[in-house]
Amino acid sequence: MDYSAAGLTVGIEIHQQLDTEHKLFCKCPTVHRDPEESNFQFFRYLRSKKSEMGEVDRAAREEVERGRRFVYYSYDTTCLVESDEEPPRELNEEALRLSILIAKMLNMEVVDEVHVMRKIVIDGSNTTGFQRTALVAFDGFVEVELDGKKEKVGIATLCLEEEACRKIEDRGKEVVYSLDRLGIPLVEIGTCPDIKSPKMAKEVAKKLGMILRSTGKVKRGLGTIRQDVNISIRDGARVEIKGVQTLDIIDRIVEYEVIRQLSLLKIRDELVRRNARVDRKIYDVRHVFAETKSKILRKTKAVMAIKLEGFSGIVGREIQPGRRLGTEFADIAKTFGLGGIFHTDELPAYGISEEEVAALKKAVQASEEDAVVIAAGERERVERALARIAERAEYCLRGVPEETRKANEDGTTSYLRPLPGAARMYPETDVPPVRITEDMLHVKIPELIEDRAKRYEKMGLSSSLAWIIADSPYFELFEEYASKLPPSVVARVLHIIPAELKKDGAEVEVLEERHYRITLDLILSGKIAKEGAEEVLRLFAERPDADVEEVLRGLGADKSNLEELENFVDRLVEEKSEFIRERGSGAFKPLMGVVMKEYRGKVDGKVVADVLKRRIEEALKSL
Ligand SMILES: [Zn+2]
Repeated sequence: MDYSAAGLTVGIEIHQQLDTEHKLFCKCPTVHRDPEESNFQFFRYLRSKKSEMGEVDRAAREEVERGRRFVYYSYDTTCLVESDEEPPRELNEEALRLSILIAKMLNMEVVDEVHVMRKIVIDGSNTTGFQRTALVAFDGFVEVELDGKKEKVGIATLCLEEEACRKIEDRGKEVVYSLDRLGIPLVEIGTCPDIKSPKMAKEVAKKLGMILRSTGKVKRGLGTIRQDVNISIRDGARVEIKGVQTLDIIDRIVEYEVIRQLSLLKIRDELVRRNARVDRKIYDVRHVFAETKSKILRKTKAVMAIKLEGFSGIVGREIQPGRRLGTEFADIAKTFGLGGIFHTDELPAYGISEEEVAALKKAVQASEEDAVVIAAGERERVERALARIAERAEYCLRGVPEETRKANEDGTTSYLRPLPGAARMYPETDVPPVRITEDMLHVKIPELIEDRAKRYEKMGLSSSLAWIIADSPYFELFEEYASKLPPSVVARVLHIIPAELKKDGAEVEVLEERHYRITLDLILSGKIAKEGAEEVLRLFAERPDADVEEVLRGLGADKSNLEELENFVDRLVEEKSEFIRERGSGAFKPLMGVVMKEYRGKVDGKVVADVLKRRIEEALKSL
């Protein structure tokens, strides 16, 4: 694919949760909760209101038409601010300072004064019907290396925002949300549309993620960072793809979106050639399916249809791997709480007979060149969904619609809603503006993970291991111990051994800094050999509360060997006191031979040497 010929431009928006103590507009902790721990639930319907400019946002209008009910789970770690029963508190200063630091790392200009705005979000993910957002900085850049060449990508804006609710379940007509995530501070970083290929999109997202993690103050794990990708091609349209959770598929998402838009443009040209048109009438075709074998159609209250003139064969056409134009129509039906649609390009099938298809076409006076789309369910929902599908089908004659789409795991995307218009932002009057002071601008830029990794490579780690350790929450622990033990041994304890144990099925997720510290201290003091670290960590994975003594006892054989060794050395030193007096510290080597003859393979040589040395020194002092 020649992306520059296609006129591809891509911009990325990264949303990263910040690891602050409190939420953005209240004092609640930023912790993840299990919905089963919820102590209170309530529900809301959301309605759209005109903005201060007197307009209703188009995305908001469509959501209201869907008429869904939103259920919220609250906890003992959420308050009345999350449930929108109380106004927000002042902007969290820790979050603001952190976003200024990130802005500086992205070479951005910081604003003089931060003004909180309300951005209309009416899918229920905010109890207020809007998301609070504040522009903190603008006009920066990052550099990525692509095929050995440095490429600069502009960073347009950095906003500090409140995270939305976590969606727990979508029951179609009802959506269930958890309030634990609502209000966690996040930064939204938007690049300029400077990205020209799928590969470059992935590199830029990777780089931004690395810079964010370098602060050491961002949340980690699935769902804590999300990428939205804005894609357009020449003659196509700007499409925003939301919720890309892993970097691995960003390039594929861009690639598939280009395929989708090119397919839609081809479809447009063909429909124009065919003189196609969309009949906006909605037909009641319940009677056609009175005796049908299709369970879905037989059971439901309303079965209705629209006729797409000249669309025969087009609705079933593939526009993205595994997705047809009809799938786009089905996506729309789903957003209205319906199961999907049927269309004549795929019929007869699904229990619908050839005779029924013929009767359906007759009922709507469709010819061989036409396609008919049917939907079933509650009458009002079916009517609204079909009206929207007819509108979408009509747009096929014009090209690619501007849309917000959802990323699927395989890199394809599904329709979510129209792209919001400009009418969606207005000032949040409950939160006072914050002046940026000189003190706030005075930040210390942390070392980038990529620079740290280079440093670790110089210490002797392989390049991949250096990256893993540099990017891990234990890099400071690594540095502390790498000055006392060989760096490769420390890296083994912090990463390689836990990774191996995990493969064996051990629960290494319970391991914390304390466990690694104890293990490294045991090696450092010679109480265990470096080979013994695996056993210690395995024990901690089973019993995370164990203390040092328990661990050493748990090592069983090793421990009794150690006690035995100490007794053996005590006796030997006593027997050979004369010899020690004569030779002084020179007695060590011959005595070491005696002990090793007994303990080779049972106790690490370094441990034997430590014990023997200590005992000889003690003996010499007392003589
Ligand atoms: Zn709260």
